[in-house]
Amino acid sequence: MKVPQMFVGGGRIGFRPALTVSMAIGLAVAIVAAAFAMAAYNEHLGQQERHRAAEVQLRILAGSMAAPLAFDDRSAAREYVGAQSSNPDVEAVAAYDMQGGLTASFTRPGAPPPPVRNILGPPRLDGARLVLTSPVTEGETVLGSVYLRSVLESPSRRAMRYAGFALLIVMAALLVAVLGAASAREGEANRKLQAEIREREKAEAALRQSQKMEAMGQLTGGVAHDFNNLLMVASSGIDLLDRTTDPARRERLRQGVRQAIDRGASLTQQLLAFSRRTPLKPEVVDVATRLAGMHALLDRSLREDVKVEINLPPHLWRIEVDASQLEVAVLNIAINARDAMPDGGVITIEARNEPSGRPDGAGDMIRLAIRDTGVGVAPEMLTRLFEPFFTTKAVGKGTGLGLSQVYGFARASGGEAGVDSKLGEGTTIWLRIPRSTKALPSEPAAIAPRKAGPIGRYRILLVEDDDSVAQLVEEMLRELGYEVVRAGEALGALDVLRKDGAFDLVFSDMVMPGDIGGLDLARDISRLRPSLPVILTTGYSAAAAAATNEGRRVLIKPYRIEALATELDTALQRAS
Ligand code: ADP
Ligand code: MG
Repeated sequence: MKVPQMFVGGGRIGFRPALTVSMAIGLAVAIVAAAFAMAAYNEHLGQQERHRAAEVQLRILAGSMAAPLAFDDRSAAREYVGAQSSNPDVEAVAAYDMQGGLTASFTRPGAPPPPVRNILGPPRLDGARLVLTSPVTEGETVLGSVYLRSVLESPSRRAMRYAGFALLIVMAALLVAVLGAASAREGEANRKLQAEIREREKAEAALRQSQKMEAMGQLTGGVAHDFNNLLMVASSGIDLLDRTTDPARRERLRQGVRQAIDRGASLTQQLLAFSRRTPLKPEVVDVATRLAGMHALLDRSLREDVKVEINLPPHLWRIEVDASQLEVAVLNIAINARDAMPDGGVITIEARNEPSGRPDGAGDMIRLAIRDTGVGVAPEMLTRLFEPFFTTKAVGKGTGLGLSQVYGFARASGGEAGVDSKLGEGTTIWLRIPRSTKALPSEPAAIAPRKAGPIGRYRILLVEDDDSVAQLVEEMLRELGYEVVRAGEALGALDVLRKDGAFDLVFSDMVMPGDIGGLDLARDISRLRPSLPVILTTGYSAAAAAATNEGRRVLIKPYRIEALATELDTALQRAS
C-alpha cells in the first residue's frame, strides 16, 4: 500500500511592492479624467433632452392656445398657461394676442416675469435658461403667440452632480495618499524582512551545527567503544609479537595490528568530516563508493542485533552533493532505524537510477532509500517527521533534528526527501537527488609500496611537538635513509635553519603550541629560503584545507611509511 508522502516546503519569500507611488498617481489621474469626460458627456445629453422636452411642451401650449385666443377667452388662456407650472423646470410662460399684447402669464416666484411684448425668434439661451417662442395659428391665420422660459437644470440637481464629482476627486486623492503611505511602509517592511532573513540564515547555520552535534553525539558512544577495541587489538598484538618467534604467527599478528590501525584512521577521517564547520561544499560523488565506505562505520555505530545490508545496482549515476552531509544524512536515518528496532532487525540501503526519459537527460534522479523492519510510523505523524525538533523520544534520547538535517540536505542538493511507512511494517526514508554528469575528481595516484633503502644522504629538519610521534617519525625517516634533525616547535626550527643552512627539506607538523604554526613556518621559509621544500602534516581537515588552498604539500595523519617515502621523493625530485 502506498502511504502518503511528505514534503516540507522551504522556499525563500519573494517580495515586490504591488503598487508603486507613480502607478497610484497615474491611476488617480486616470480616474479623474474619466470622471470629467463622463460628466461632460452626461451634461451634453441632459441639455439635449431638456431642450426637446421644452419644445414639445411649447408646441402643445401653442396648439391648446388657439381656441382661447380666437375667442379672446382670457380665463381659459390663464388656465392653460397656469397648467404649465406642473413642470418644475418651467420658470415663466405667457400668451400674447394678435397685436402682441400680454393676455395671460405665469411666473415662478423669484423669477423675472415674461416680456410685455413677445418677440418671435429661434430658441435662444439666456444664461442657464432656454427661451422658446412660437406663433399660435389656426390654419393660415395667426391668432397670437406663446413664450416659454425653462431652466436647463435645477440648481439643486446641479449641486448634487457636482458634489458627486467632488467626492470622486476626493476619493482619488485619498487613494493616492493611502497608496503612497502604504508604499513607504512597504519599503520599511521590506528592510525589516531583509533583516529577518539575515537573522534566519544565522539561526539556520546554528541549527545545522546542532544537527551535526546531534549526529556526533550519537556517534561518540559507539566510536569510543570502537576505538577501545582497536587499541586493544593493537596493544595486545604488539605484546604478543614480542613473545613469539613463529614467522607465520608474527605475520598474522602484524596484519591484525595493521588492520586495526587502518580502521581507526578511517574512523577519524569520518569523524573529522562530520565535525567540519564548512557549509555545503558540493563535489561530484559516486554514491556506491560512498555508501560502501560507510558500511563499517554504520555497522559499528548501530547495535550487534541490527544488520546493515547495502544493495546497489551496478552503474549507478553520480550526484553532486556535500559528501560529508550525505554521510551525516545516511547516519541519521540509520540511527532512527536502529531506535525503531528495539529488538533488532535489518536496515537495507538501496539506490537506483530514475531516468526522466527526456532525451537531454534533464530531470534524471537517483533515488536512495533506507528501509528498516522497525515499528513504523503512525499515519497522523507522517507529515511531522521532518519538522525540526519533532521527536517522540524521551528527553535526552532525541532532539528531533536528525530528519530535518536529512530534509535540508536533500533540498539544498536540488532534490527532495520523503517517507513511506505503515505502523508495524517498517519505514522507508528516501532521498531523490538530481544526477550529475560531471566527471569524478581525479583520484590521487595509488601509492606504490616502496622498499626502504638509502637514497643519498639527504638531511631533513623534522618539526614536531609531540615527543612520541616525533620519535616514531624520526625512526621512519632514518629507516628511509635520511639524516634527521628535530625541532620541537616552529620558532626553534627557524633558529636551527639560520644557524645551519645544510638542509634539503623541512617536514613539519601544522598544529603546534606557540605563536606560529606549521603554515606560518612554511611561509617564513618560503621567504628566507625559497628553494627549500617544505612538507606539512596534520590530522585536522580544516588545517589541511587551509594549507592546500595555498598550494602547499600536505600529508594527512596518520600516514604509512610508503606514503611518507613517496611524498619526500616527489618533493626532493622537484627541488633538484
Ligand atoms: P529524533 O531521532 O531526535 O527523535 P528525528 O528528526 O531523527 O529526531 O526523527 C523524528 C521522529 O521521527 C522520531 O522521534 C521518530 O518518532 C520518528 N522516526 C524517524 N525515523 C523513524 C523510523 N525509521 N521508524 C519509526 N519512526 C521514525
Ligand atoms: Mg534521529
